[in-house]
Amino acid sequence: MPRTYRDIRQSSKLLNVRYDVRGPILEEAQRLEAAGQRIMRLNIGNPAPFGFEAPNEILKDMIANLPDAQGYSDSKGITSARRAVSQYYETEGIMDIRSDDVYIGNGVSEMISMVLQALLDDGDEVLIPAPDYPLWTGATTLSGGHAVHYRTVEEEGWVPDLEHIESRVSERTKAIVIINPNNPTGAVYDQETLEGIFEIARRYGLVVLSDEIYEKILYEDAKHIHAASIADDVLVLTFSGLSKAYRVAGYRAGWVAVSGAKHRATDFLEGLTLLANMRMCSNVPAQHVIQTALGGYQSINDLILPGGRLLEQRNVATKLLRDIPGVTVQEPHGALYVFPKLDPELYPIKNDESFVIELLRQQQILVSHGGAFNYPDTDHFRLVTLPSVRQLTDGIGRIAEFLEDYRYRHATV
Ligand code: PLP
Repeated sequence: MPRTYRDIRQSSKLLNVRYDVRGPILEEAQRLEAAGQRIMRLNIGNPAPFGFEAPNEILKDMIANLPDAQGYSDSKGITSARRAVSQYYETEGIMDIRSDDVYIGNGVSEMISMVLQALLDDGDEVLIPAPDYPLWTGATTLSGGHAVHYRTVEEEGWVPDLEHIESRVSERTKAIVIINPNNPTGAVYDQETLEGIFEIARRYGLVVLSDEIYEKILYEDAKHIHAASIADDVLVLTFSGLSKAYRVAGYRAGWVAVSGAKHRATDFLEGLTLLANMRMCSNVPAQHVIQTALGGYQSINDLILPGGRLLEQRNVATKLLRDIPGVTVQEPHGALYVFPKLDPELYPIKNDESFVIELLRQQQILVSHGGAFNYPDTDHFRLVTLPSVRQLTDGIGRIAEFLEDYRYRHATV
């Protein structure tokens, strides 16, 4: 039967899927740019546009391997890359990640989606921090699951609230997500916190999903502890990759490594392998640089140690934001962001998305609102610390001007 005209609609699976870090605010920024305005983009953790170049060896290796990277690889990744990942964890004291336990993907992003697709039945619940990196919530929803957010305590440096986590466990809870170092808060979790989370995972039979993409971006005396090092009687999936520490976000190279109670996960891992097979393999040229990246000199250290750009920029961003009346900042111990709080007495913000759009229109500064990270209150925004000190000083200066104007307009001065 011929069909009459009808709108082509998105699938209902997308009904509750949100990814606001690239949503309406970015669209408004693009509209303003098309109208000739210059927008300072402080919204995405993409190192390259801020002058962070990949180490030369990585570029050389990528080029040298191009002729041999034309065909599909094994769907879980080339042997040298998987072995390099396995050996990397071995040097970190985690002995039970074999090459076979490593799946290489097009960035951590792809592995997050694949793992959740393989793990979740409709209605299954996943415990996810608030604020979160929103792909975790979006991919959980798209996989038919429910994201159940747990509190992190800002005043204590954004540590997960263990009591709250436990209170949110239900019959349907299948996994708990840890983002450490955290995006957007910059929190780095200590041994006790991780042990507390594992205690809950053990008690309720949960899988631990640990996103450690910022593991090497640490400031001052912060120390990163791999979730996989905490216990071997819980199934742990560790996610990491080259996007941040090796500054090649565009190459799309990441992985998930399986450790701990693997013997209880044979069926799930078969499912994960099936999904890896269905997408053939990840970008093969990028797989060839994983071994090079993980071995030898770690140039990221030059950026985070005293005198290093990333450390200086974190310091400047924190200080300048703290100088603004009514703005408080928990100093980030890792990652590439600050997540300041705006005192609601001075800044009575009803809709934080409209608030950052107002900032964008008035000052041509693009940041992300707290709600984009599934944060329940309207009093936070996230800024990336990738721009140079000069750019940050200019950008935060404009934010300060906007906030001063906001206080006058709302008579809260
Ligand atoms: N996980 C976190 C916490 C992130 O912040 C990001 C990117 O910003 C990703 C994963 C995505 O990483 P990839 O480039 O490896 O897909």
